[in-house]
Amino acid sequence: MSHAKVVLKRAHRYDEGEIRSSVAEAIAAIGSLRALVRPGAKVFVKVNHLSPPSPPERGIITHPAFTGAVLSVLKEVTPHITVGDDLHPSSPDGFEVSGYRKMCARLGIRLINLREIGFKRVEITGKVLNEVYLAQALLEADVIVNLPKLKTHSLTLLTGAVKNLYGAIPGGLRTAYHGQYKDPTEFNQVLVDIFAAARPHLTIMDGIVAMEGAGPANGVPREVGVILASQDGVAVDAVAARIIGLDPLAVPTIRCAHERGVGRGVMSEIEIVRDQLPHVSPFRLPPLPVGEIVGRAPRFLTRFLTGQLSARPQVVRRSCVGCGACARICPTGAATVAKGKARIDRRTCIRCMCCHEACRFDAIALQRSALGHLLRPFAHRQRRARHRARG
Ligand code: SF4
Ligand code: SF4
Repeated sequence: MSHAKVVLKRAHRYDEGEIRSSVAEAIAAIGSLRALVRPGAKVFVKVNHLSPPSPPERGIITHPAFTGAVLSVLKEVTPHITVGDDLHPSSPDGFEVSGYRKMCARLGIRLINLREIGFKRVEITGKVLNEVYLAQALLEADVIVNLPKLKTHSLTLLTGAVKNLYGAIPGGLRTAYHGQYKDPTEFNQVLVDIFAAARPHLTIMDGIVAMEGAGPANGVPREVGVILASQDGVAVDAVAARIIGLDPLAVPTIRCAHERGVGRGVMSEIEIVRDQLPHVSPFRLPPLPVGEIVGRAPRFLTRFLTGQLSARPQVVRRSCVGCGACARICPTGAATVAKGKARIDRRTCIRCMCCHEACRFDAIALQRSALGHLLRPFAHRQRRARHRARG
């Protein structure tokens, strides 16, 4: 049986020039750049860039110097490169705060918020999902490059290559899946379904400064000093897990992906082409996630409660100017515009909230059910208790 090849390079600081050399060497060790990316190909680069604006020093996002180094390598073979992630619109602009706008402008690379371009339905035969809404930019690309950040994660234990592709589906749908698939095994299968559907061709992980503890956003930055590259993203996650002191198969996404043959998750099936392995004491792990209301309910009530508790989008007719932004971004066609006003078909709406996020006129309100109103204070108490427990 052939092994998955993971190239490990050491890098101790976010110096774009140094990282560029390491990335070029890593890609050359996997295969030639031109074999991986045909000259002139359309490339989509998926970074890990959470919505709340955060500077790169916090260790939450794929560092812009790291991404810049990868982009300058890719630019050798093609000018058609798009970088993106799915961000809630905010003020200040998240891409500005992280340095991505400046970096992409300097390199002449197109930077997008995935929801501005939209998502498209794709039929799949996953373990849990039979359809998935993937970013249009990803579907239109010839080559997908996955740039995850090495972090622990309060829900999935590790944020890596597999989890990073969860950001390629609409933000509201991500929220809905969290409620719908409350069984952790089922949710991790959903993550693997999406990763398998997105099929990144190349994964290069930013493990120069990682995050331990309450990741993906509330942990502590931790120097690790590695770059991991492979055509097998699951193998990258497995090596990353081993470096931070985890048994790879203890990470549910790695175990599910390995068992399904989506990638290699056991070290005996991975060849590490490496600089010297870093000596890293085991990472602090995130606190155990505490169930929300739905998580505490019996399984047979899950779907009903999720339906009852999730907010529905509702058009505020007096504010609607009929611009059609909601209809353009709606992945199911549930939002339409007729006679200058938007309307939403409840039967086909999947509550992904893309329309809510796309409307600049506050013309889509979120409507809670009576039960949702009733249970809201309880849910807030649960959240506060959880945050207190996290310290
Ligand atoms: S985006 Fe907002 S303002 Fe524009 S049509 Fe939709 S609801 Fe109306
Ligand atoms: S109408 Fe429903 S499905 Fe369409 S964008 Fe809005 S929330 Fe999503």
